[in-house]
Amino acid sequence: MSKNAIVTGGTRGIGAAIAQRLKDSGCTVAATYAGNDEAAAKFKDETGISVFKWDVGDYEACKGGVIEIEAAQGPTDILVNNAGITRDGMFHKMTPQQWSEVIRADLDSVFNMSHQVFPGMRERKFGRIINISSINGQKGQMGQTNYSAAKAGMLGFTRALAQEGAFKGVTVNAVAPGYIATDMVAAMSEKVLDSITAQIPVGRLGEASEIAECVAFLADEKCGFMTGAVLTANGGQYIAS
Ligand code: NDP
Repeated sequence: MSKNAIVTGGTRGIGAAIAQRLKDSGCTVAATYAGNDEAAAKFKDETGISVFKWDVGDYEACKGGVIEIEAAQGPTDILVNNAGITRDGMFHKMTPQQWSEVIRADLDSVFNMSHQVFPGMRERKFGRIINISSINGQKGQMGQTNYSAAKAGMLGFTRALAQEGAFKGVTVNAVAPGYIATDMVAAMSEKVLDSITAQIPVGRLGEASEIAECVAFLADEKCGFMTGAVLTANGGQYIAS
């Protein structure tokens, strides 16, 4: 599949696995990141995938960043909105800053990035937009009102934009991972992680590569009849309809 792809937050964790998987399937891939230059440089050295730094919560930065990427690799066929953060806290203690940082990085970013590439995809009558949501956007999670709201918002966005893109060959789908072994999850205490693993019928955390497979499936040219869908990959922890 010789398509051009952008993976936000593509230098670490799930995003890095997605970027590598799309490259392996023949795509030219650009991976973006926020500020961890060391991780990005290591990723670039190991994979040969180009990296670009900006804040996906900033609309103008996304506009400039996509122009730069497209000047280097051509028009974007596949966008994976993967970048995300957590700022957990019980709601009664959550600060406005914790709320808005997560909404900005996890949800505004989906508008900011999709808005740059969607018109071109419509014109060329082909596009794949894949949004990385979360099990916690499907079921809600105590201590994550901000994150659950942002990730559920991504699902509404996915279903609405899918209807706008369908006639123009642009599919818009989401993947809702359960708990995956990345830095984001490693930040949790061992006690919390043990209690989470005990709730996963498969009996382990997921691997980033398992989410990358879901993305590769949705990104494929042959996957043109699937749009507005949510692929759930959570080891059986939450069986969503
Ligand atoms: P990581 O924390 O391991 O990596 C996050 C990536 O996103 C990094 O490349 C980071 O850049 C980038 N990033 C974060 N904020 C911004 C920003 N404002 N602008 C640009 N880039 C940004 O996360 P995961 O791999 O664990 O998670 C990836 C996605 O999957 C997230 O959306 C997350 O919510 C979702 N997810 C994760 C699950 C899990 O269990 N891990 C479960 C369900 C969903 P930098 O390296 O510079 O910090």
